[in-house]
Amino acid sequence: MSIEERFLKYISFDTQSDPQSSTIPSSMKQLELGKYLVEEMKKIGIEDAHLDQSGIVYGTIPANSDHGKVIGFVAHMDTSPDASGQNVKPQIIRDYQGTTITLNQEKELYLDPHEFPELLNVIHHDLITTDGTTLLGADDKAGVAIIMSMAEHLYHHPEIKHNDIKIAFTPDEEVGRGTENFDVEAFHADYAYTIDGGNIAEIEYENFNAFSAVVEITGKSIHPGSAKNAMINSIRIAQEFDAMLPVHARPEYTEGYEGFNHLENIQGKCEKTVMEYIIRNHDLTLAKKQCQDFENIAAFLNQKYGYPMVKVTIEQSYLNMREHIEQHMYIVENAMAAMKECGIEPYAVPIRGGTDGANLTYMGLPCPNLGTGGYNFHGPFEYVSLTMMKKQVEVLLKIIERNEVI
Ligand SMILES: [Zn+2]
Repeated sequence: MSIEERFLKYISFDTQSDPQSSTIPSSMKQLELGKYLVEEMKKIGIEDAHLDQSGIVYGTIPANSDHGKVIGFVAHMDTSPDASGQNVKPQIIRDYQGTTITLNQEKELYLDPHEFPELLNVIHHDLITTDGTTLLGADDKAGVAIIMSMAEHLYHHPEIKHNDIKIAFTPDEEVGRGTENFDVEAFHADYAYTIDGGNIAEIEYENFNAFSAVVEITGKSIHPGSAKNAMINSIRIAQEFDAMLPVHARPEYTEGYEGFNHLENIQGKCEKTVMEYIIRNHDLTLAKKQCQDFENIAAFLNQKYGYPMVKVTIEQSYLNMREHIEQHMYIVENAMAAMKECGIEPYAVPIRGGTDGANLTYMGLPCPNLGTGGYNFHGPFEYVSLTMMKKQVEVLLKIIERNEVI
């Protein structure tokens, strides 16, 4: 089966995960793709392929040599709750010429290189887009298709020598639960790569340190008619609190390595207001300083108003994998060397978010992220370069070959 056929098959499954659900996996429809992948893996020759009770697919391509490390490859099966992934109707554009692509005439949705300049990197590539009514699902079924095509190639080419190669496909990445039940010990790889990014020239091994802050403000509710010198409106205090955070450290004013505090939700009445923030920075010291700002503002307001009106609760969500990966830099260097051998000029980019790989790294499996050739994830403008997907299969095979000589 070609990588194109494979990808088109995978996106025909609706695998949207559900942030409201507490089941494992969060939506049962993800299991349908999981079962299909197990069957396909068995057909390819991966005898131990199986779907475990948490909805993760695992499999091993057995070693034909004991040289080199045991490498794992990981991709996620679910699609984002931000847009529908049901009844995806892909459009294929062969040899893209750099012009505006009509996604949907009726809805007036276009992929215009002026608006999406990355399109200029994929001129003469074969592309797959949506019809403007759903997302595409390249995030991350392109990753799944790349790993499957790599596996099939190895079974057809036993002359490529390798140690055990471990494969995992996870559910629920998009709702932040992709590694919750991942069995790192049983996976038994020395290191791994998630295949879940954009341009295949990119390698990602730095992500945010992430915290959340819940700010609860208790006011004093009094009938407005007799409120003079007595009412304390918690909504006003919330405004005061938010105004004391640095304005420049908001997501809409930051990029690259700049961290931010993002007010995600606010709900309140005179009596009580609750604000939910996320706090992000690549630098852990700076991230902790941002957390400290929240505590300091609360202390200031409590002092100013003379009673414990503000309560701040901070929780850690995930940490930057960089310092762990840096202890095993050959993982990054090997991938970059493989890319160069495939004619790609690689570069590292800091992720302004988290990845399953960051969690896996903290669980003891160092795991940077590689690209898929997909762009504009989580919405109707999503598209993927089939040309890059094919190239990425070559890169993975090269990583495996190079690992042999390490
Ligand atoms: Zn993804």
